[in-house]
Amino acid sequence: MSFHVAELIRCGVLEEVGSKNSGMGRPAVLLDFASGTLFVAGVLVEIHRLDGVVADLRGSVVRWDEVKLPPDPDGEQVVAAAKSLCRLLLKGLDARRVLGIGIGVPGFVDRSAGRWEECGLMPRCRDVEMAPALSRCFGLPAFVENDTRARALAEKWFAPERDFDDLLFVEIGEGVGAALLVNGRIRAGATDAAGELGHISIDPNGKRCYCGGRGCLESQASCYALFDIVRRRLDGRVKSVLPRLLDGDLEKLSVEVVRQALDAGDKVALEALKEFCVPLGTGLANAMNLLNPGHIVIGGSLALLGDHLLRPLIVEIRARATSRAVRGVDIRMSGMVGRPAAMSAAAVVHEVSFTGRGIAHSLAQRSTQTARRRSAPPAEGGRRRPIGVAG
Ligand SMILES: [Zn+2]
Repeated sequence: MSFHVAELIRCGVLEEVGSKNSGMGRPAVLLDFASGTLFVAGVLVEIHRLDGVVADLRGSVVRWDEVKLPPDPDGEQVVAAAKSLCRLLLKGLDARRVLGIGIGVPGFVDRSAGRWEECGLMPRCRDVEMAPALSRCFGLPAFVENDTRARALAEKWFAPERDFDDLLFVEIGEGVGAALLVNGRIRAGATDAAGELGHISIDPNGKRCYCGGRGCLESQASCYALFDIVRRRLDGRVKSVLPRLLDGDLEKLSVEVVRQALDAGDKVALEALKEFCVPLGTGLANAMNLLNPGHIVIGGSLALLGDHLLRPLIVEIRARATSRAVRGVDIRMSGMVGRPAAMSAAAVVHEVSFTGRGIAHSLAQRSTQTARRRSAPPAEGGRRRPIGVAG
């Protein structure tokens, strides 16, 4: 057992969860994060609200809450809302048992300064000192990360299957975004601009996009594009359960309603989804040809469609990517569906604390604190893979 592992067990970060007989020599010890000893907090900034969570290191949610944001908030209003959310989340918790606060924001960040630099969807939030403000207020380390990258980190740290050294995470919802993990670490790019999958052009003569480009994938592969296709196909020629599910008001279309129609085997919804998967599959096939990832995880609000979306999407990808790029690739839906969105922000604390030099930093911090008192909350979620073995 290495020094680091022994020390992490001593500090209450890791615990033994079993052993594995490899057939030769003594059995290897299976390790996972200790449950209920230490905690991480996460705050995810969305356009209209902040989602917040406190979880133990294994990802079991201890507290969850949210606060609403005023319309078109400025940076100060977001910081004030984040402080009041963290007060709710951390109330009564021993701060010595909290490793830090992760903050996920849409748009661009300066990680080392903890600054939220800019966001097209929230234009009054520029150069917001998110992490320093929360760190000063609560006396805890705080870290900021782009929201899509934070979601990719949640797959790595908290999803039931999380063997993701090499991952293309694709978020499909109101927009389309991506994050890339290479050797387990975020690949941010030379100017922090990697992952703009929604703005690769799939139609040079297509509609002008707000990014300045033309024919961007996002205009054809967001949830709004899917709703447009469904509405167009509801012309009365094919029988559908959708008008009844929507009380005749097609403007009430949502991902949940599309899911209900798909579950009922609705032909309009099924055909709409097939049509929707053509541009989406094209964009993903392009990305696969370029990056050749071992795993692709689909997250965002459309992940709620589960296998209904996955099946036609895989058909399109296989038809368009090179056979070598699709060979053996694992394409799946997010393992975080149904869990608080702010788990993504909490995963940022894991990434900083337990990767590379972060482990040493985390150990130094823990060795001065008493963190062995246990009050384990009930475990949640499915069976998890142990995070490693120690001989
Ligand atoms: Zn664009």
